Amino acid sequence: MDLYGLTIHAAHELLKRGEISAVALTAAVFERIEEVEEKVSAYLTLARDRAMAEAEAADALIGQGELGPLTGIPLAIKDILCTEGTRTTCGSKILEDFIPPYDSTVVKKLRSAHAVVVGKTNLDEFGMGSSTEHSAFASTHNPWDLTRIPGGSSGGSAAAVAADECIGAIGSDTGGSIRQPASHCGVVGLKPTYGRVSRFGLVAFASSLDQVGPITKDVTDCALLMNEIAGYDAMDSTSVPRPVPDFTKALESGLHGLVAGIPKEYYVEGLDGEVSQALDDAIKLIGELGATCREVSLPHTPYAVATYYLVAPAEASSNLARYDGVRYGLRDATSANLMEMYRNTRSRGFGPEVQRRIIIGTYALSAGYYEAYYGKASQVRTLVMEDFKQAFQTCDVLLAPVAPTPAFKLGEKLDDPLSMYLSDIFTLPPSLAGVPGLSVPCGFSREGLPIGLQILGKHFDEEKLIRVGYNFEQATDYHKRRPEL
Ligand code: GLN
Repeated sequence: MDLYGLTIHAAHELLKRGEISAVALTAAVFERIEEVEEKVSAYLTLARDRAMAEAEAADALIGQGELGPLTGIPLAIKDILCTEGTRTTCGSKILEDFIPPYDSTVVKKLRSAHAVVVGKTNLDEFGMGSSTEHSAFASTHNPWDLTRIPGGSSGGSAAAVAADECIGAIGSDTGGSIRQPASHCGVVGLKPTYGRVSRFGLVAFASSLDQVGPITKDVTDCALLMNEIAGYDAMDSTSVPRPVPDFTKALESGLHGLVAGIPKEYYVEGLDGEVSQALDDAIKLIGELGATCREVSLPHTPYAVATYYLVAPAEASSNLARYDGVRYGLRDATSANLMEMYRNTRSRGFGPEVQRRIIIGTYALSAGYYEAYYGKASQVRTLVMEDFKQAFQTCDVLLAPVAPTPAFKLGEKLDDPLSMYLSDIFTLPPSLAGVPGLSVPCGFSREGLPIGLQILGKHFDEEKLIRVGYNFEQATDYHKRRPEL
């Protein structure tokens, strides 16, 4: 048996029965990394020595009978979450050598659950992108077809899970960055409700949208990671003080009595024929499993891309002002004066996509334009939110595509930002509304590329997404397929 291919829950069972050790499991993951990482490029930093020490500590605990669901489980962390003592680059030259003095809350929680941190995964710089090509260091390749993008911005995490270079992973999602790479890599990804998981130590891109969430090999693992990472945190004023359910309980019920809405604006021209077919089949199956499916309308969907691409850059331009070469990160040493130092540091430190966002965002917030751009976008955002509120008056969940096409070729959209932005059309509206979204594998294209189903729910109703995703998964075998590498 190849230990690296295990799910979290399967590995846990074997650890519990004493059939494997955390050290053997972690070593197997690093062997796998040695074997395939050259092709995939999922990681920016590997923490081998520390991970092996963590695995030894986990084995000692297991020896004393202290075994939690994540004890000794090797996990990968998107390189936008601060890790004490381990470099955190955000995929940017400006933070190339940044070693955080503290752990993000999510990482802290995973460490106290005695998980093993394998390393930090590649991403689009500061999370800005949909292909992981906007990383300053490398492009990650899709394990299903190495000539294609893994999706983004959490492309490194999704590719690492799909290629068995970790047992599970953590990503972040501002406008689709967990769901879309999960879909393109044939794995499971959950963007929790805004406020469900602490953002403390998640380097800020767009603070009103950013959320941390799991990327895993199946829905059970997703529930297990959610159990650990969710919950109120006094260090994040936007995290919501409400009790965290046991998400694995949601795996126990069937779909009878559940109403699933099919938003008609999501099944439109531009949706690839094979994606549309896979979605139709998925909806039919969910109906056969006991749910009632009915058409609903989210009328403001066509405005979501324009709205997001004002709100997110506006917040980014403000958040990224902190990288000025003074306190931390890159500093241009050749400048003659302070203004020149700011300019040179930021010109050298930020890549073209980040610079584009800063310029768009600064413009949208500037005096004289604020009302017309940021102000108007905020109003439209409220209308998008109202769409979801209306739909959830008659539905428990919504079933939608994740992305309009399967993974595109590396380089295909790199010089065409608008076409890259448009590929986010189905993941942006739920982000603007703050509702949770789960991506589960629902088929493959003729070329063998994974296709994902997006399940959306009410605020703080992740349990229902997990319930639908799990029942769907049990009736299919897409999540069991693995790419040949
Ligand atoms: N692709 C979107 C963007 O470029 C969303 C990215 C994300 O969710 N971090 O902004």
